[in-house]
Amino acid sequence: MKKEIHPEYVESTVTCACGNTFKTTSNKSEIRVDICSECHPFFTGSEKIVDSAGRVEKFKKKYALK
Ligand SMILES: [Zn+2]
Repeated sequence: MKKEIHPEYVESTVTCACGNTFKTTSNKSEIRVDICSECHPFFTGSEKIVDSAGRVEKFKKKYALK
């Protein structure tokens, strides 16, 4: 059985603005994000974002407008 390899998808390291990093699969080896499951209030269940209120507001606006 031949194993198919898809070179456009590699294991990549995602680096969040909050300092959290995690692995995912993407077509890039490194990804930078502003928000992740560790710091997004939707996932944490609170509004305890520390030093990036503007960034969060931008994020909310972006998704509220859709
Ligand atoms: Zn984060």
